Amino acid sequence: MQTDLADFIKDTPQGREADSILRKCVHCGFCSATCPTYQLLGDELDGPRGRIYLIKQVLEGAQATAKTQLHLDRCLTCRACETTCPSGVEYGRLVDIGRAIVDEQVGRSTGETIVRKVLRAIIPHTSRFTPLLKLGQLMRPLLFGALKRKVPPPAPASAWPVGAHMRKMLVLDGCVQPSLSPNTNAAAARVLDKLGITLVRAAPAGCCGAVSFHLNEQDEALDYMRRNIDAWWPHIEQGTEAIVMTASGCGAMVAEYGHLLANDPAYAEKAARVSALMKDISEVITAEKEILKALPPFASPLSPHRKVAFHPPCSLQHGLKMKGQVESLLTGLGFDLTPVPDAHLCCGSAGTYSILQPDLSQQLLKNKINALTSGAPAVIVTANIGCQAHLQSATGLPVMHWIEALDARLG
Ligand code: SF4
Ligand code: SF4
Repeated sequence: MQTDLADFIKDTPQGREADSILRKCVHCGFCSATCPTYQLLGDELDGPRGRIYLIKQVLEGAQATAKTQLHLDRCLTCRACETTCPSGVEYGRLVDIGRAIVDEQVGRSTGETIVRKVLRAIIPHTSRFTPLLKLGQLMRPLLFGALKRKVPPPAPASAWPVGAHMRKMLVLDGCVQPSLSPNTNAAAARVLDKLGITLVRAAPAGCCGAVSFHLNEQDEALDYMRRNIDAWWPHIEQGTEAIVMTASGCGAMVAEYGHLLANDPAYAEKAARVSALMKDISEVITAEKEILKALPPFASPLSPHRKVAFHPPCSLQHGLKMKGQVESLLTGLGFDLTPVPDAHLCCGSAGTYSILQPDLSQQLLKNKINALTSGAPAVIVTANIGCQAHLQSATGLPVMHWIEALDARLG
């Protein structure tokens, strides 16, 4: 695609990056076939090709409008289009650049600004999110309908293994996962303990920055990233093997630290090292799977946790490009995976999307639950806390991280 970027952007790092991405797009439209919002709305401007065209127009000097903003807001940033694109168009980076400029030109209504500020003031801060969640859980018996479904019942915290191995890896607790699903990291620690690896938490590390970044507060997000790098750096200097992510949404963000902080002289090198050390928990377990294969088989075909439907989060399959990895790992370890149609499609969680675009999010959720339950699983497993909580709000089946199912299998 030919481009002619306007003076205000063309000589900036964002302009140069956007230009090189736009030039790769040949406007073939293959990406539309796998775009969840295009499938739901049938409007070219609610698909990747149309959004790319809108962003190009703005970068070439056209004034963005509220309509431009709406079509970009409706995008889930699921990056299914990247997986489909034969030309390697990095749509996720392009839409981040486009959104920042469109928001600057169009602005937000007072109501939207308040909602976004509240989300940024609560979600990334565990010390604020946890008491609010507990309050909601106390009030749960009085709630009804959609609100009740959005407040999950309390999840018990389970024991973290004691003792230490020579092999050590860091783990990110993140922001909402410790209160919504405290068992996830404890389960990961127990499984890795059986494999001779100690999982270490670096307390000052917290939100990976994704919430602020995708709400267009990119400077705030970069500060969260620097805070995490500072928390991890002493452990990295002591030789930690990896920084393990049990939420693929955080993993996809940490994988970008090196790129996003490349122009920060104080952090560029450290950020690149952090991104290189980031591993999704499935990568760590896959590397050790021969040890796990020696396990006795499930006691019976009806064993709890045996028959599972796996929901691969977009951040795992499209962001981290780890399509099929967890599925083959679980199958190899004796789980029965039920068939799930349209596994490439987003469940509608997508960070804060379920709050900011509730109608589209609920349609995607309904379709996803139908797909996940079509093979009659006993349990739904996934790999990202946002998807886990979103799916759990719409089904009576247990929904958990797959590492919890593996932990239960190991006893
Ligand atoms: S993003 Fe890729 S798949 Fe979509 S229109 Fe452009 S080149 Fe084609
Ligand atoms: S990121 Fe997802 S929703 Fe957005 S254009 Fe690409 S496929 Fe469509």
